[in-house]
Amino acid sequence: MFMLSFFAIPKGVLKKLEYFRSRFFWQNDQHKKKYHLIKWDQVRQPKEQGGLGIIDLEVQNKCLLSKWLFKLANEDGTWQTVIRNKYLRSKPLGSCCKKPGVSHFWAGLMDVKQVFLSLGSFQIGDGTQVRFWEDTWCGDQPLKISYPSLFNIVRKKGATVAEVISSNPLNVSFRRGLHGERLLAWYDLVERVMGLELREGRDVFRWGLNKTGFFSVKSMYSFLINNGPKVSGNLANKDTIKNQNFYVRGVLLTKDNLARRNWNGSQSCCFCHYNESIQHLFFDCRLAKASPRLSTQHTFSTNGHVKGVVNINPFFGRSCSSDLGNLAV
Ligand SMILES: [Zn+2]
Repeated sequence: MFMLSFFAIPKGVLKKLEYFRSRFFWQNDQHKKKYHLIKWDQVRQPKEQGGLGIIDLEVQNKCLLSKWLFKLANEDGTWQTVIRNKYLRSKPLGSCCKKPGVSHFWAGLMDVKQVFLSLGSFQIGDGTQVRFWEDTWCGDQPLKISYPSLFNIVRKKGATVAEVISSNPLNVSFRRGLHGERLLAWYDLVERVMGLELREGRDVFRWGLNKTGFFSVKSMYSFLINNGPKVSGNLANKDTIKNQNFYVRGVLLTKDNLARRNWNGSQSCCFCHYNESIQHLFFDCRLAKASPRLSTQHTFSTNGHVKGVVNINPFFGRSCSSDLGNLAV
């Protein structure tokens, strides 16, 4: 995790790490091969989306790197001075791009730059570090999104706020004349920015995902993971997660599930003569009906196998156990 906070993780390393993590998840430290009952991608989904909330290393890596960008944009220090002199010079952060031969650290920052900048906005100081059209500084989105017809024909798309609004009229030139809708859009834009004045001091980047305006890895991770691609299917029922009563849907190694995987043992329930399935074990079995506490007393191993049923029936006054996990091959 320490290295992830400095460097963008190479694809090969990520794949290897995911292999070991998923292997640990399914097999613990045993060498015996076990069934993979659910896709790893689905396991990594947050609990709110039906996964198990295992950390997504790629997303976490992006968030940890973004922390450096926030410090670079807002703080002064030795490393910031070195980076600014070497890579930024007088350019805004958003105008820099990854070039061949740059350090692994800087290349990682450049990979996450776009996402990072899109999740906050600038408070204008001297206007030299903010791009007029492409950064968010006036309103809650970049001006290129608010005025796409103007952005399409502007000559200097990467102009800074300082370059544009330090003169009157605004220092903007277009490749074509402004008529109709475009002219109205231009009037609207001029009205919005003419009242703004540059002042001395650095432009400040405010993080948009929490009220304080300060960056936090947690807020970014939560945003990215909840707005990233969704994996279909639900590992667990939302309501049962709330109750911490964790039914895992369709991924328990009940005997009917084992039979589908060419297991030849008896499919009968340990407590009655019906075949064992999730539906039977949790809802239909006469023992389940007799004891509403049955479901809460099933225990599961982390690999999704039913590990045992302990003291499930106080009427019988004995402990029953069915370690189905051992049946896995
Ligand atoms: Zn039964």
